[in-house]
Amino acid sequence: MAGALAILKDIFRSRFPEAAAPRLFRAPGRVNLIGEHTDYNLGFVLPIAIDYACYTASAANGRGELRVYSETMGQGREWPLEGLAGVPPSGDWSDYPLGVANQLLRAGYDIPAVDLAIHSTLPLGAGLSSSAAIEVAAALALLGGREIEPRELALLARRAENQFVGTPCGIMDQYVCVHGEAGSAIEIDCRDVTHRAVRLPEAVRVVAVNSMVKHELGGSAYVDRVRECSEAVAAIAERFPDVQSLRDIDSERLQSLRPSLRELPFHRARHVTTENGRVHAFVAAAAHGDLRRMGALFIASHRSLQYDYEVSCAELDFLVDTALTIPGVYGARLTGGGFGGCTVNLVAPEALPQFEERMRGSYQAKFGIDPQIFPCDAAAGAGEIFE
Ligand code: ADP
Ligand code: MG
Repeated sequence: MAGALAILKDIFRSRFPEAAAPRLFRAPGRVNLIGEHTDYNLGFVLPIAIDYACYTASAANGRGELRVYSETMGQGREWPLEGLAGVPPSGDWSDYPLGVANQLLRAGYDIPAVDLAIHSTLPLGAGLSSSAAIEVAAALALLGGREIEPRELALLARRAENQFVGTPCGIMDQYVCVHGEAGSAIEIDCRDVTHRAVRLPEAVRVVAVNSMVKHELGGSAYVDRVRECSEAVAAIAERFPDVQSLRDIDSERLQSLRPSLRELPFHRARHVTTENGRVHAFVAAAAHGDLRRMGALFIASHRSLQYDYEVSCAELDFLVDTALTIPGVYGARLTGGGFGGCTVNLVAPEALPQFEERMRGSYQAKFGIDPQIFPCDAAAGAGEIFE
């Protein structure tokens, strides 16, 4: 964190030389341990906030305008505060901070005239949620220490992404960014938007591996999956009218309905219902420090995403299958939406050097790509940094 803050303060000083010493904020990325494609089906997810994060620095400028500079992009934007609520999205990175300003205004907060610098240690677009991190870090900077309920902050940041940026994401990313806890995963109930912390065993490392690919298919497949899940819900509700989302049915009851469902929606629904079950089983296994069971649930989750939900790809399957041949690896699975992005691995701490070497070597040999490898500690949620 010290290195990131030094870069951020340097950037702030050089971009905004007349400003006073800035306030500093941090908002983490996340890795979802288990519970994939369950959030928009109002089920359960189990992410950790990680120690890779987006950092913001802000100070009053007295100029009647909002000025934002992203060190990551090497670009700045400025908007007069007058009429800020009416500025439309421009389709680039600045929609994230501007969308947050827009949502803060709608929620009744005024936006102060500030200079705001952004620096991130997260890879962009790799599935570690750099987007929720920039939203929350920008919101904290614009609030400048004003009180907001953590849950409200998460919901507001999500609205910025849904309504202003235009990505139909669920609540997981923003929620864990705000509520993360060091040493624990966060089990989120996506229907009630509540959570409980789940302490993780210390004898295991969570390691994200970035496939460095992002297949175009991902965006349209996401929309298809949302539709296929509602088709399954509609068919199930004909027999069981109390079922309003796939959250409301377990895998046994679903199995009994197999003859009345089309093949494809049945497979999608089977992934979601078994995945919700795996989240609960994983939480129970974590409480007992049962690393083998936790690993087995990771593998079952990946196979379900691969064959029932069909959101994997050759690169992710290869990374998972390779990881499972390395001694000291308990489990591996794709994490995030799929079609590229990252896998998440449970690795014995002493096996980490060999894991990194073998993963790099094999992926390089097969695809000619050097994967990024991120050993992650479960970190605290977003907040102000006081030095
Ligand atoms: P992910 O959240 O998995 O990283 P997304 O596609 O949801 O992927 O969000 C990535 C986008 O968020 C980037 O393309 C960029 O527009 C924006 N973004 C994230 N971090 C920054 C940053 N530090 N500076 C500017 N824009 C950022
Ligand atoms: Mg994102």
